[in-house]
Amino acid sequence: MTSRTIERLVEGQFVSDGAGVRMRRIIGTPQADYLDPFLILDEFRTEEADDYVAGFPSHPHRGFETVTYMIHGRMRHQDSVGNSGVLSDGAVQWMTAGRGIIHSEMPEQTNGLLWGYQLWVNLPSALKMSPPQYQDIPTRDVVEVMSNRETVRVLAGNYDGHSAKADTLTPIGYFDVKLEADHTFTHPVPDGHTALLYVYEGAVEPSNGSEFAPTTGTLAVLSRTGDVEVLASSQGVKFLLLTGEPINEPVARMGPFVMNTEEEIHQAVRDYQSGTLA
Ligand code: MN
Repeated sequence: MTSRTIERLVEGQFVSDGAGVRMRRIIGTPQADYLDPFLILDEFRTEEADDYVAGFPSHPHRGFETVTYMIHGRMRHQDSVGNSGVLSDGAVQWMTAGRGIIHSEMPEQTNGLLWGYQLWVNLPSALKMSPPQYQDIPTRDVVEVMSNRETVRVLAGNYDGHSAKADTLTPIGYFDVKLEADHTFTHPVPDGHTALLYVYEGAVEPSNGSEFAPTTGTLAVLSRTGDVEVLASSQGVKFLLLTGEPINEPVARMGPFVMNTEEEIHQAVRDYQSGTLA
């Protein structure tokens, strides 16, 4: 079985979004604009309250899904039709915006630290106007697979026969992986699917003849065929692994709306302004 190679590395960029939340944008930058089906990956990781207290006040979404994963700290959310809740340390929320959601998201620290990720997953045209849906998975229900020298939290998809609690509308894998020093992780991914690896601690050792060795804060874009194989450096490594089937459709996007055509974007704006989006 062949293994995927690292095709390129992308450094995240610090940006400000919402009402002034400072974060590292990993996908959704000029260097990694759209890694089909992934639109955005943002990392919130700070001990400075000023970086996040303004939060993300009421805003709309249409045409895709947002996945919020809190490693440390909480995210308090509320939508325009009365759904609300708090994601706490280790929890996952898989939110299908579908035809429309208007909500607020307010980050809160735990013991001084806020650390989490928000991923935007695109939907194919046939599913863009799906009914909105939330799947809230508290940390105790997040599937964790522990074996010799590795721990894998299964946020979406299937790892080694263990399926995530969240159902996804399209084939997505999302894993939080911790490897001890010099351990090799392998995971089969269908040929043609996108595979991305974001290192948040430690480093990966070059392997498969690759010159690239991603370190903390770096996204590795993998080739399209074979297994994912990751060799931990002598200090070990912790990373997020994302896999997904490319949608291969035209993308029209404006801020919180991601559709196929400009006309659909204009319609989303009209629906939001007339109060019929959500
Ligand atoms: Mn949102």
